[in-house]
Amino acid sequence: MITVKVLKTVELSAWQKTYYPELWKGMVVTSRHFFVNLARFAGRAVGMKTKRPIVTIQYPEERRPISPRWRARHRLMQRPDGSPRCVACMMCETACPDKCIYITAGESLDGRIEKYPVAFEIDLLRCCFCGLCVEACPEDAIRMDTGYVEFGGYSRGEYYMDREFLLKDLGMEDKGRTTHAQYRGELDGVVVTRVDLLAQAKHH
Ligand code: SF4
Ligand code: SF4
Repeated sequence: MITVKVLKTVELSAWQKTYYPELWKGMVVTSRHFFVNLARFAGRAVGMKTKRPIVTIQYPEERRPISPRWRARHRLMQRPDGSPRCVACMMCETACPDKCIYITAGESLDGRIEKYPVAFEIDLLRCCFCGLCVEACPEDAIRMDTGYVEFGGYSRGEYYMDREFLLKDLGMEDKGRTTHAQYRGELDGVVVTRVDLLAQAKHH
């Protein structure tokens, strides 16, 4: 049998409707935490032992380990000879809900592989880190296990990660070298015909 509990609607008084009482209670709780933690922190700084550990992490000097399942910045996997494992099947580009992967396929000289990515670029600012590209890849050629989760920059161009950047698994501090202009024209003799990222960005 289902029991239905009828809740009474609480009528607020005129004073409560001003929200000052709740505001005040919130300030008291916040201030209490602030001063208690400040005292504990000062105590520890002069060598006193505190019962509870200080939970504040002194970022960026201190960093918490991130879960291996965390979807961080992408990387492209390499074959033993250093070439991309990617076979330019376009599955990741098709699966990407943000349409931020741009691949131009070229004919591979390796008889066992039909195609390879002449250009492979990800616009990180449009990416929602859903991981669908990784899930869709039949070759385990793209992963999001780099551990890079801090992205800062001054221009959109810094976030267009090209094939070499993704293959070498460079740190984000090297991201400035990637520009969309790099891909205008030909790469490995193949005309790269993908959309102009900057022009597209202006319309979003
Ligand atoms: S993580 Fe999602 S949004 Fe980002 S590139 Fe992959 S599929 Fe696209
Ligand atoms: S990364 Fe994987 S899914 Fe994307 S084009 Fe290459 S092989 Fe296909």
